[in-house]
Amino acid sequence: MSVAGIDFGSKSNVVALARRKGIDVVMNEESKRETPSLINFGDNKNLMMILMMMKMIGVNRPKQRGARGSRRKKKKKLPSFFLLFPSFLETTFRLFDHQQTDTEFRGKEEEQRFVGCAAGDKINMQPTNTVACLKRLIGKKFSDPTVQEDIKEFLYPVKGDKKTDNIIVTVEYMGKQREFSPEQLLGMILSDLKRIAELDNEGIKITDCVLSVPIFFDDVQRRAMIDAASICGLNVMRLMHETTATALAYGIFKTQEFTEKPVRVAFVDIGHSAMQCSVVEFTSKGLKVLSTGYDTNLGGGAFDNAMFHHFCEEFKEKFKIDVKSNPRASFRLKSAIEKTKKVLSANPEAPINIECLMNDVDVRSMITRDKMEELAQNELNGLMGPVRQMVVDAKLDIADIASVELVGNASRIQSIQKALEDFFQKPISRTLNASESVARGCALQGA
Ligand code: ATP
Repeated sequence: MSVAGIDFGSKSNVVALARRKGIDVVMNEESKRETPSLINFGDNKNLMMILMMMKMIGVNRPKQRGARGSRRKKKKKLPSFFLLFPSFLETTFRLFDHQQTDTEFRGKEEEQRFVGCAAGDKINMQPTNTVACLKRLIGKKFSDPTVQEDIKEFLYPVKGDKKTDNIIVTVEYMGKQREFSPEQLLGMILSDLKRIAELDNEGIKITDCVLSVPIFFDDVQRRAMIDAASICGLNVMRLMHETTATALAYGIFKTQEFTEKPVRVAFVDIGHSAMQCSVVEFTSKGLKVLSTGYDTNLGGGAFDNAMFHHFCEEFKEKFKIDVKSNPRASFRLKSAIEKTKKVLSANPEAPINIECLMNDVDVRSMITRDKMEELAQNELNGLMGPVRQMVVDAKLDIADIASVELVGNASRIQSIQKALEDFFQKPISRTLNASESVARGCALQGA
């Protein structure tokens, strides 16, 4: 039976399966190997409008589910305006049907919830009803200063339970306010990843997984990950540090190159919300993690946020619009900024153009790579501290490190590469696939 290696990321998730011929990264329904780490709870404004209109014209929900005859009778009594839209009405009736029994409700609930790629298509329309960056909330208390800092950038509402201080995410779902814990939400994401993996596995059920966790997760956060997996019926065979998974994925294909003489490799992983690094010693007998380091704030997201605040100020002055006051405009600006950031990884400057950002105003601007680096200077300054400490903790000199491997999608940011090259005094290697190494390592562990 296949064991899934799951890399749960704050931006995207990757699933890999160990097979006879090697490790395969699973493709989702959009034939992509990375699945957005998002959950959308649907367009409730439309649903509320439908419900209100139905109430106004005195249409009640059908008494028995599946009583198509009775539905048809009701349709005949409706005003002609509604008869023009039979499928629209059918959907509306089906939404009423959701309240019938718990099991029916749960079955249909899934139809109305969008996870992964499907949520990625919806977030543009309903940014306040789409949960993102869940990894930042898992296993934490609401009063945690990092949570307080993170939620300032979130577009969906997060609150704390008054008694327990547990985090509660409030969404509009099926016309009602619903509350979910981060673990329940992660359960939904893992369930979707399980489904994708099973589709790729010719429908054969997947019950076991090796789940990645950052090195800085504490016991409570690790426990929360296991709880979330159990919600969707996944048995976690092992929680694996992301840095160790990367080292395993690297080492397995180099086994024949290693001898009894130790080879030390530094791994630096720059993701969306955090940076992790480790020095690993490889011999023909196996691998040993010598030291680790991390910065929980340095990632691609820090660059996005810095540019977001910069452009909000610029557009306020230039176009007299307050982007931060409008969640949809904020989301659109953040998306455009992320694309611009990627362009800046390959070009010294990049444009940012958004039509009708808000109040029918089109915005245009340019940003250079130097300016982006200047805006994220604080975060960049934080990079070398953990890396330097990691080398000290490993009791090594820089010259003892044979190679420096860079992974994580945000590692493509030029200034990060340059800072690491200057420190290690050698060119950076990219032997591993930047986004897949963690999932591959986890799958290998489970094989
Ligand atoms: P984390 O490791 O924090 O949990 P993650 O694993 O989801 O996050 P990755 O998928 O490794 O993160 O990286 C996502 C980040 O990389 C995003 O901020 C994204 O904008 C950024 N990114 C992707 N491609 C590029 C690129 N070409 N240049 C710069 N940044 C990029």
